[in-house]
Amino acid sequence: MTGTCEQKVQQLHCSFDAGVSRPFAWRREQLGRMKLMITAHRKDIERAVYLDLGKPAAETALMEIKLVLDEIRFVEPRIERWSRRRHVAMPLLMQPARSWTIAEPKGVVLVISPWNYPLMLSLEPMVDAIAAGNCVCLKPSELSPNTSALLQRLIGAYLDPRAFAVVQGAVPETTELLKQSFDHIFYTGNGRVGAIVMEAAAKQLTPVTLELGGKSPVFVDASANLDVAAGRIAWGRFTNAGQTCVAPDYVLTTPELVEPLAQKIAGFTRKFFGSNPAQSASYGRIVNTRQFDRLVKLLPSDKKTFSGGETNREHLYIAPTILTDVRPGDPVMQEEIFGPILPILAVNNAKDAVAFINGRPKPLALYVFTRSKATRLLFERHTSSGALGFNLPLGHLLSSRLPFGGIGASGLGAYHGKAGFLEFSHIKTVTSKPTFPDTLRIAYPPYK
Ligand code: NAD
Repeated sequence: MTGTCEQKVQQLHCSFDAGVSRPFAWRREQLGRMKLMITAHRKDIERAVYLDLGKPAAETALMEIKLVLDEIRFVEPRIERWSRRRHVAMPLLMQPARSWTIAEPKGVVLVISPWNYPLMLSLEPMVDAIAAGNCVCLKPSELSPNTSALLQRLIGAYLDPRAFAVVQGAVPETTELLKQSFDHIFYTGNGRVGAIVMEAAAKQLTPVTLELGGKSPVFVDASANLDVAAGRIAWGRFTNAGQTCVAPDYVLTTPELVEPLAQKIAGFTRKFFGSNPAQSASYGRIVNTRQFDRLVKLLPSDKKTFSGGETNREHLYIAPTILTDVRPGDPVMQEEIFGPILPILAVNNAKDAVAFINGRPKPLALYVFTRSKATRLLFERHTSSGALGFNLPLGHLLSSRLPFGGIGASGLGAYHGKAGFLEFSHIKTVTSKPTFPDTLRIAYPPYK
């Protein structure tokens, strides 16, 4: 689709009003085309993401391409079932009458995506929006320009041009886009911009989904299998060089476990990336110098660096780094790290860990490594987070059967699978009453 941003959005509204995106057959066809688009251009996608992020091809295959394909496979055969009329009984006072709900598409949806999983975070919301019968305007991130350009080219070539538009650009273009009228805005990125998006949406009372970030904590107690915990934490933290929204951001553990856990996690980083991760084909890079400089400022003096800490600005490289002897007031604990740095802090026990977590903004994810049922229940009942994983970081992100989203500072709304279908649908209530007998008369004034 060509034209100015205003014209593109107008055209999408015309297409939606003409009913282009409503038929189930059309929705399935678009999802089939998207599947084809991805499988036919696997190598192009892996290359573009590598150019943007230095992301290893295997990581793109697993964490971007496979996740979108899985979502399509899950959603596509269920569209009609999820859209079906659901009959509901009417109260006795209203009888005879019938009522039901139907899922109707919201209309024209704006998807604003970030750079860290530039394919997956653009296409997964689109899959759910298409399944629900919407037209979509995608605004991919300017910080992953190769993937954004590829997405624009492929979407233009494979999907119905009447119902999809891609608008590229940075702040000025997005600001312009946010002045247009949409029926839903789906934003993934940091909370500061999330507030800008929500403010712009509020002006037109447009509903929003905000998929934000924040510091996702981990708690490890003495009953945990330390080897398994260390491996899983290392994988969750250092995948995509730490630039994953649900990555473990910091670890809380009891004082005697700080050192052994740090050692084991460091051991796993060597197993994953060798003794010099800069030469590992399995280790990613930081997206740009701005993020690199921000991360370097979070690195403390040597005494607190348990392992790693090496950096190379020219190659945007930061080694997998583990910090111990960290205080809650240290810079690394003041913002989401979003890079390959893992602080480990000591707390006395699980209750103190809960108090520490509850004293901060609600996280997108919280991970607990324990074999204790009481500790599980403590976290399940006394903390609030987008998701809670026992012995499993990132796991919920990989399932289309689970809603994915944050709470409070980490987000608003959810998607993936049925949750995504519902997020992009309006559940419309329909009622119907026969005109004979006219029993509603009993409610008419004058009241006796
Ligand atoms: P980013 O800089 O790519 O920004 C995201 C989008 O917002 C881009 O499309 C960008 O063009 C747009 N944008 C930037 N400034 C804007 C402005 N002033 N007005 C309007 N639009 C603007 O990505 P980012 O925010 O650096 O992404 C990283 C953050 O996103 C982290 O906090 C991370 O945790 C979070 N994140 C969350 C999820 C999730 O699913 N919850 C997934 C990935 C990333």
